[in-house]
Amino acid sequence: MSNPDIRDFTRQELAGALIALGEKGSKIDKVFNCLYRKGAESFEALAGVPDGVKAKLAAKYGLAPAPALEKRVSALDKTVKLLFTFPDGAKAESVVLFNKKTVSACISSQSGCACGCVFCATGALGLKRDLKPHEILAQFAACRREAGRQPDSLVFMGMGEPFLNWANVKKSILLLSDNKGCNFPQTRITVSTVGVVPVIRELAASHLEIRLAVSLITADEKQRAELTPMSGKYSLKEIIGASRHYAERTKKTVFFEYILFDDLNDTPEHARKLLALIKDVPCKVNLIMYNPVPGGTAFTPGRFEKGKAFQDILVEAGIRTHMRREKGADIAAACGQLSGDAAR
Ligand code: SF4
Repeated sequence: MSNPDIRDFTRQELAGALIALGEKGSKIDKVFNCLYRKGAESFEALAGVPDGVKAKLAAKYGLAPAPALEKRVSALDKTVKLLFTFPDGAKAESVVLFNKKTVSACISSQSGCACGCVFCATGALGLKRDLKPHEILAQFAACRREAGRQPDSLVFMGMGEPFLNWANVKKSILLLSDNKGCNFPQTRITVSTVGVVPVIRELAASHLEIRLAVSLITADEKQRAELTPMSGKYSLKEIIGASRHYAERTKKTVFFEYILFDDLNDTPEHARKLLALIKDVPCKVNLIMYNPVPGGTAFTPGRFEKGKAFQDILVEAGIRTHMRREKGADIAAACGQLSGDAAR
């Protein structure tokens, strides 16, 4: 079995390992600087690190080769989609979104997804495997190169359910925010879940400063059961309860995502149902028009006028609500469209 990748360990873990090997733990700061700021791809390239330390690290750890990268650029809005193929053939996608003054990176936590939401291209793939921290960080580094600077925000809304790969995602967040590494603020990281209740509660009890987005999809339990098999595991009541607990404990706003499907869940009655469900949670709602997926599904996107009327009901009740303008639809880079196929 090959050695574990050195980029899958936090600075504290590696410092501890060096001390155990008779070296000063502080030497790891230089290693981090080379790996995460200078992009070193081999142990020999760890500039300024004594040869003895390099040898000890190389004996214990590995450095996987960079994934193969394909790129597509939207003719509509310059959104960039990046397709990564890792050495074992597993694929993942990231998206770089250029707004007026800001840049946002959307990255994947898994190759494929086990949740099987029927409207989502990633769900149709099934789960190939979890991504390791270094594979998540490779996506961030490629997005940063594409943006030409550090993105302003980072969202785990690409392929996969981050809370079903929480150990690796959590470690990647610690690495991303390490001030000797990428130094990306946790407060600018959002993790989106379809509602894995135990991890929402774990996050509430943690010291992480990240933001939580919960993809409700719809506010009707029966409808949700038809849209995502995950609903069989955690009910809307449990998800809202955990979200409220998170908001109370962390004093942070929860972002609820609601997907508008034409004539399915976009009427004023549905808006009032959503309102009744979330009214006691400090939250903001993001309304997302369903994005058709390659190969097609039985669903059609919500219409703008109906979406606006839906939004007005929430806003009048005092709920901050944003109708998200999807980007990259011509290169299948919008929400729910990632299929791991560069040609789409
Ligand atoms: S919507 Fe999210 S959780 Fe559902 S199948 Fe797609 S990637 Fe997985």
